[in-house]
Amino acid sequence: MAAGGVGAAWYSEGLAFSCLGCGDCCRGPGGYVWVSEEEAGKIASALDLRPEVFAAKMLRMTISGLALVDDGKGDCPLLDSDSRCRVYPVRPFQCRTWPWWGENLASRRRWDEAAARCPGMNRGPIRPERAIEAVMAGEL
Ligand code: SF4
Repeated sequence: MAAGGVGAAWYSEGLAFSCLGCGDCCRGPGGYVWVSEEEAGKIASALDLRPEVFAAKMLRMTISGLALVDDGKGDCPLLDSDSRCRVYPVRPFQCRTWPWWGENLASRRRWDEAAARCPGMNRGPIRPERAIEAVMAGEL
């Protein structure tokens, strides 16, 4: 979409993001981390667990699909004691694509609401609109 043209995305000039690794997005109640079967296999392997052991310990089946359990406080069970992801190289698609989610990109207001919870948003290098939309289209 042409920058500034009729119908241009509000983020046509691009958006800044640089993860600080604070882990805030991985903590707290109220969310789901969706995991595909393929992702579950990769995560189990990264943890050196048999897939069925990983599933029993860390997965739950919901009406919408497989998701990670939480640790009882709502935190991701894959965080280590320093709030770092233990499976970062094989983290789920949902985690890899933050903050380039449709709900965050729906409007500037929604983006800024998300940014209030994620200190990495609105800082760092600008990602161009085309690259943002590529992530949204599943092209990582
Ligand atoms: S809250 Fe934002 S800055 Fe912190 S770890 Fe998550 S993505 Fe990175």
